[in-house]
Amino acid sequence: MGFVSYHCHSVWSDGRASIEAMVAAAETAALAEFGLSDHLVLTPYDDSNALEWSMPRNGREVRDCLDSLRRVSEGAALPVRVGVEADYFPETWRELGRLLDDLDLDFVIGSVHYADRFPIDCSARFWAPLSGEQVTAVHRLYWQRVRELAECGLFDIVGHLDLPKKFGYAPETDLSASVDAALDAVAASGMTMELNTAGWDKPCAEAYPSIGLLRAACARGIPVLLSADAHAPGEVARHYARGAAWLRQAGYTEMRVFRNRVASTVRIPDVGKDDHDAS
Ligand SMILES: [Zn+2]
Ligand SMILES: [Zn+2]
Repeated sequence: MGFVSYHCHSVWSDGRASIEAMVAAAETAALAEFGLSDHLVLTPYDDSNALEWSMPRNGREVRDCLDSLRRVSEGAALPVRVGVEADYFPETWRELGRLLDDLDLDFVIGSVHYADRFPIDCSARFWAPLSGEQVTAVHRLYWQRVRELAECGLFDIVGHLDLPKKFGYAPETDLSASVDAALDAVAASGMTMELNTAGWDKPCAEAYPSIGLLRAACARGIPVLLSADAHAPGEVARHYARGAAWLRQAGYTEMRVFRNRVASTVRIPDVGKDDHDAS
């Protein structure tokens, strides 16, 4: 089996292209399966920024988006999986669980984009005024939230681990105890972790998570898949050859695929040097 790309956004959330255009890009890239996972953000805060990038951005219902995806999938040349990327918040995860139960999905990516009210990956301008101590506190709270995300049991895949490195603001102190606790919780949950290749196009210039964390995940037996976090058609398989090489370096030979929220395991495909490396 070839590569899959499940972490993809469309104009239904903060992507820049239609579902049709994203599916067509997956066909062109000769992917084995495509998945759409637009943002589903049940923010507990009065946050107009969140409303800008979450379904239903255009005022319609989440179900309208998923129905539209199902219609597009009928004419597609490859299997199309229906997913969401949902935010974990301690205040709203139970409500989210009730909503997810009703949506008939193939997979759910769980992500942490906020450390309480702090928007982690929105813009470097939120990080710039922070003291070193505050930067460390954001990182620490992020890992705490990842641990809770794993423990709540709602999600199939944990999204872009180590996202707070995005703009290059590193913690001042060693947070390995917090990181280890989060990884232990992910391992205990049976969740899959993604290697998210979008980080190579961000200021941190490194996939999420780092190769060190990927090795730590492999040592714990945490299953993986490769994701592009695509927001445009040209990104559906970005840096996939490099990502596959990282997976192997970290000790992985297999990756996961999903259908009806059930995972199965396939071998990581062999790639030529330039195959599937769209950017
Ligand atoms: Zn995300
Ligand atoms: Zn995403």
